[in-house]
Amino acid sequence: MLSVRDLHANYGSKRVLHGVSLEVPRGKIVTLLGANGAGKSTLLKTIVGLLPRTAGAIELDAVPLPNATPDRALKAGVALVPEQRELFREMSVLDNLRLGAFLRRGTAEIAGDCERLLDVFPILRQRASQLARTLSGGEQQMLAIARALMSRPSILLLDEPSLGLAPKIVEEIFAIIGQISSDGTAVLLVEQNAALALDVAQYGFVLDLGEITLEGSAEELKMSPIVRASYL
Ligand code: ATP
Repeated sequence: MLSVRDLHANYGSKRVLHGVSLEVPRGKIVTLLGANGAGKSTLLKTIVGLLPRTAGAIELDAVPLPNATPDRALKAGVALVPEQRELFREMSVLDNLRLGAFLRRGTAEIAGDCERLLDVFPILRQRASQLARTLSGGEQQMLAIARALMSRPSILLLDEPSLGLAPKIVEEIFAIIGQISSDGTAVLLVEQNAALALDVAQYGFVLDLGEITLEGSAEELKMSPIVRASYL
């Protein structure tokens, strides 16, 4: 379980997160909804230490995550798939995947995980030797998710996985997100498409100007007049 308590973060003198608390249980999908500029990406970046927190606590399975750097967060089991995907564009699909395991040891196990993920994402197997930059947007998103999974995270943080993708590909990616969570990995999903997010998630939070203003089960949020008016 990922537990975030009273998290504060700033960009310089601009205060962006004002005491955010949320929890993501193991094997569950929790979505974070909010308007543009609410601070959703900032929250994900602060959880992995791309942005230092100014106050607050983060725990993974009751173990405190110090004000970490992204590689320490990854080692602790928290993997971010950033909005820009940030693939190694001039490297092959397979090399991108292998690099996802850069903190792990055990060559045979890493190769086994690579194979397993190429089964989950068959299109990546077809593209294995292609440079990442030659992939379509949907394929790049799949590779970014697969690369993050190569670290065997306890929790995957996904920032707008549907951004810029055709509905059919989005459907495919969301089905895989469901599968990832049923395999036991927790997912914190930031998604502009609230209807889609609330279909796949079990629970959700609404972030507004750096504060959580609403939370509830996906069913409760779908019925909420605030969510219906602003996000659905
Ligand atoms: P979006 O859906 O548009 O990505 P978001 O909810 O993810 O929105 P953030 O990107 O976290 O929002 O931005 C929160 C606030 O922080 C905004 O006011 C934004 O302008 C500001 N901000 C984001 N990145 C930076 C940065 N690198 N430097 C300064 N301010 C930033």
